[in-house]
Amino acid sequence: MLADDRSETGLWDLVAEVAHGDAPDLPTPGEAGAYTRWEAFLAHGLDAYGADRDRPDLDATSQLSPYLKLGVVHPRTLLADLAVRHGPGVERFVTELAWREFYAYVLHHHPDSLWRDLRPELAQLAYDDVPDLVQAWRDGRTGVPLVDAGMRQLLATGWMHNRVRMVAASFLIKHLHTRWQVGAQHFLDHLIDADLASNQHGWQWVAGTGTDAAPYYRVFNPVLQGERFDPDASYIHRWIPELGALTAHEAHHPWTVSAERRGGYPDPIVDLDEERKVALARHQAARSVSQ
Ligand SMILES: Cc1cc2nc3c(=O)[nH]c(=O)nc-3n(C[C@H](O)[C@H](O)[C@H](O)COP(=O)(O)OP(=O)(O)OC[C@H]3O[C@@H](n4cnc5c(N)ncnc54)[C@H](O)[C@@H]3O)c2cc1C
Repeated sequence: MLADDRSETGLWDLVAEVAHGDAPDLPTPGEAGAYTRWEAFLAHGLDAYGADRDRPDLDATSQLSPYLKLGVVHPRTLLADLAVRHGPGVERFVTELAWREFYAYVLHHHPDSLWRDLRPELAQLAYDDVPDLVQAWRDGRTGVPLVDAGMRQLLATGWMHNRVRMVAASFLIKHLHTRWQVGAQHFLDHLIDADLASNQHGWQWVAGTGTDAAPYYRVFNPVLQGERFDPDASYIHRWIPELGALTAHEAHHPWTVSAERRGGYPDPIVDLDEERKVALARHQAARSVSQ
């Protein structure tokens, strides 16, 4: 199509939308963009990476995942740059890169684990898969602030902080009793770093069906996770503007303030304590059947 063929209105609408800033703020494309980001991370992020990598309110991780996923930068190139550096940040960053390679290896050797549980222990687990609850999760309207902030970050930017991916995934699986595959599909549809191995095995890790046997009984408390990793609630304030005027404590517990002060932000769609107990009972039952 010629660039001046304005009969293709859909395309021109899209161009206008991008030009007027309604589209997500995507990473700079290409190798130069990847290196600019990498060099900025080496200069300002690497030393504190070990301590701050779990903080979604800080710009503390490399955000190289879209470039790594697309092959714009090779992990060995990053390792070569790190070989001349020392410190806890270096070690931790290398470990994270290794997770990516490990999951690629696991998927290569267990291709069925793309959509099936890698480990069979939870095959008998009961799920609810309630469409309205799943939709509230997809839309970032569960009434649980850290989960909603992450889900809205995903919709707006195509990226979500790792700690929040874990918490949002745990909430879907363990508080809403939904199969991990439902969430994995949504992530694949929206992530700009969507990677079959890292995504499916990230979800299986949270579900307790993957390579790590231990966390089947772990149910992240999304409120405590928020208070711990977003202490000033600035991540929540950023992605849930309805809560922007609340104090940090209120933003982590918005159900304690009037509906008016929280600008229509909903009450939690489930009782966190109740559903945690349900999840643990169901996991216990499923495991005793399989033993
Ligand atoms: C439910 C869930 C789904 C995920 N889906 C994806 C996905 O589709 N694509 C993807 O690249 N990562 C995925 N991850 C892993 C992780 O969240 C992202 O790699 C990370 O958030 C990317 O941000 P970053 O580049 O700033 O990471 P950094 O902290 O800067 O880490 C550097 C690189 O190491 C790799 N890495 C870091 N953590 C992990 C991890 N836990 N597993 C595998 N590789 C890792 C990534 O390539 C990342 O770019 C998922 C994690 C979870 C819990």
